[in-house]
Amino acid sequence: METKNTLVMDAQILDAHGLRKGSLLIENDKIIEVSSSISPAGVDKVINAQGKLLIPGLVNTHTHLSMTLFRGVADDLKLEKWLNDYIWPLEAHLNGEYCYAGALLGCVEMIKSGTTTFNDMYFYMDHVAEAVKEAGLRAVISHGMIDFDDEEKRKAEIKESKRIIKKCHGGADGRIRVALGPHSPYTCSRELLEEVRGLADEHGLLIHIHVAETEDEVRQVKEKYGLGPFAYLDDIGFLGEDVIAAHAVWLSSSEIHILRSRGVKLSHNPTSNMKLASGVSPVEELLECGVCVSLGTDGPASNNNLDMIEEMKIAALLQKIKSMDPTSLGAEKVFEMATINGAAALGMVDEIGTIEVGKKADLALINTRKCNLAPWRHPVSHLVYAASGCDVETVLCDGEILMENGKLKSLDEKYVIELAESAAEELTSKA
Ligand SMILES: [Zn+2]
Repeated sequence: METKNTLVMDAQILDAHGLRKGSLLIENDKIIEVSSSISPAGVDKVINAQGKLLIPGLVNTHTHLSMTLFRGVADDLKLEKWLNDYIWPLEAHLNGEYCYAGALLGCVEMIKSGTTTFNDMYFYMDHVAEAVKEAGLRAVISHGMIDFDDEEKRKAEIKESKRIIKKCHGGADGRIRVALGPHSPYTCSRELLEEVRGLADEHGLLIHIHVAETEDEVRQVKEKYGLGPFAYLDDIGFLGEDVIAAHAVWLSSSEIHILRSRGVKLSHNPTSNMKLASGVSPVEELLECGVCVSLGTDGPASNNNLDMIEEMKIAALLQKIKSMDPTSLGAEKVFEMATINGAAALGMVDEIGTIEVGKKADLALINTRKCNLAPWRHPVSHLVYAASGCDVETVLCDGEILMENGKLKSLDEKYVIELAESAAEELTSKA
């Protein structure tokens, strides 16, 4: 491979290690030097970052990207009605083409708001992988499995998961990894969950699952198995360091202890939990107990966007209301959740999540010369409480520039919006 250098010059660098000024030299996909001054002589591409804030590309640890097609189709409804009357009838008409169009739209939105890695669970995942590959992003993808105790369905779901592993794992120059995606303990049989555990061990894959999202789920699982969702999963030997559980809203204190001792990773999804009135996850308590809590938007049908900067603010505000204490979950902590904790949750802590030598060049540059960020004062506070995804100007993933000065390089934004709009229109007309 031909060597390619990129220099990000004179930035204010902010990551979990704090704030400093400096320049960054990138060779191919990796950061090879961070120092106060690097000469631009002989460098292929120079990005002038003077007066700009450089952060690690944000990590969205729970989403269903293709659901961009369902954005705004139904809001302000109870979860059951929302699923039964709107989402499931539409999903019955999905195909690979639609999922590709929706995923591509989601990729554009993520690049434009500074996210470079995401954890996705949905259907037709080889088509989603195609969108990720074209967009230049990094992703963990999983086929969402539901069997409702039906053996035939279980076999079909496992078969599809195996097909996706074989076809997509390690794809797009290693930017795509495949995980196993059993939907939840109340939609998957014990047999399916046990088979998933076996496959994860055999192939060294992550497991991405929804757990303890609503009070009703806890009731159902308790009725069936006599235990809360996490206690039940632990009882069947399902939990481990390779499990990333989304939501984790309704937990007992003994379940928090289980999460810590098993090394389970969580994805906190505050906007979705608020919008569907699911409840408030005890994030502050979980972090204090040493549980790795990362941040995710959930699908764009229950958020309704993929803006991780907005998600950081909502996460911080929600914890303050839960505890009625404004010192709860400060800006630094929530920024860690969206970066290094996300990397840890996806087993990529050595590769992404901070800006340091040897890590992948997954980066976002924020324009600080904006009215909503003036006077430029306290970078992490401004990023979490005053900024939005719209303030992201330039994005790199795996050393490639995906957006420069607000202009997408890997995808044609206008084309992607039109493609997704026509897919959404066609799909809605069928349902
Ligand atoms: Zn979800």
